[in-house]
Amino acid sequence: MSRSPVWHPFTQHALEPAMKRIVRTEGAYLIGEEGAHILDAISSWWVITHGHRHPAIMEAIRSAAETYDQVIFAEYTHAPAEELAKGLIEIAPVGLKHVFYSDSGSTAVEVALKMALGYFNNIGAPRSRICVMEHSYHGDTIGTMSAGERGVFNAAYEPLLFAVDRLPFPEPGREQETLDAFDSICASGRVAALIAEPLVLGAGGMKIYPAVVLAELKRIAERHGTLLIADEVMTGWGRTGSLFACEQAGIAPDILCTSKGLTGGALPLAATLCTAEIFDAHLSVDRRRTFFHSSSYTANPIACAAAVANLAVWNSEPVGERIEALAAKQRRHLQRFGADPRFRNVRQAGTIVALDLSVSAGGYLADVGPRLKRFFRERRLLIRPLGNVIYLMPPYCVTDADLDRAYDAIDEAASAFAAGRL
Ligand SMILES: *Cc1c(COP(=O)(O)O)cnc(C)c1O
Repeated sequence: MSRSPVWHPFTQHALEPAMKRIVRTEGAYLIGEEGAHILDAISSWWVITHGHRHPAIMEAIRSAAETYDQVIFAEYTHAPAEELAKGLIEIAPVGLKHVFYSDSGSTAVEVALKMALGYFNNIGAPRSRICVMEHSYHGDTIGTMSAGERGVFNAAYEPLLFAVDRLPFPEPGREQETLDAFDSICASGRVAALIAEPLVLGAGGMKIYPAVVLAELKRIAERHGTLLIADEVMTGWGRTGSLFACEQAGIAPDILCTSKGLTGGALPLAATLCTAEIFDAHLSVDRRRTFFHSSSYTANPIACAAAVANLAVWNSEPVGERIEALAAKQRRHLQRFGADPRFRNVRQAGTIVALDLSVSAGGYLADVGPRLKRFFRERRLLIRPLGNVIYLMPPYCVTDADLDRAYDAIDEAASAFAAGRL
């Protein structure tokens, strides 16, 4: 067989088995060439919310493609982008008044960081430090890697990454340390913004912290005139139980990044929402105050139409009830592992569950992830552990029978691991 020229993301081609070809997607499943139905228990890297190919979203895409392709988004606008922006402002935390479009979570975060620095520059009180939380993930571009956790994933690029201030993760019982650290870092008066994933740190290991910590961080930020950027790229669109995770803390960030579930996962699109204050700081007859940012595919009309259709799904279908029901199912299934010594930190935030396979520390940790992944793959389950952290983040259409299969496999995998058979 000839080698494919495709270079896949986060893939060590020297170690991984051949790529499995997917020919169709449907609901909670990826369908392979031989018709194998693979349960997409991680929503194809966290993007699919309602299920693959939701009919209303696919119809909106078909229909928009009859009318538009890409339209330049400077000087010109179009109905899908206008309608989407209005819709987003309506459902977003109060105070977010403007919507800047881009095309991925990483670009949404880059835009947010530039908005924050641009704001302080334009009000004539420059600040340039960015504060982040330990174990964060904000994307894979140079800027977003700078804000994220440093490690093997970005060691080669370290010389290019900018310096940030880091808060310790609010571990249970030690939340005050995080708050105190933030307060003292802000005291320098140089911190433009704190960027944080609200309630759940995703790629950093599905680490969950209480909403009250986020509320306190916001309060401290306000006191120091520091902006809060909520990176809701993963947590948005119901994953943690509420539409946006910020709602559970009862706060409104100054800037909010959304992408993955924005189109229900059907097409790439991102939006960075900000307050009127930040927009107004860029509003001037002095052209130097312009927000100098664009992507070629900014506000792609077909992607915007898909997102408008997604908003309509949220309005017309009982999505909230589905999410509640899924969260309850997950809670029930998780109970079997609650006091199981094979696992640690069994946890849940809305529809997301995670549990750490107990491993004795050391080098083995490095390859338990790939072994688990292979074990699940052989059982037609798309579950990709983060090291020893096994998590499920299924689309909301997943059935109890699907979940049964996933949890049985997790149980089996833990037994195989304990018996040295994984
Ligand atoms: C996935 C993710 C990103 C990056 O999004 P991309 O679309 O992959 O660029 C940023 N922030 C968080 C919290 C994410 O989970």
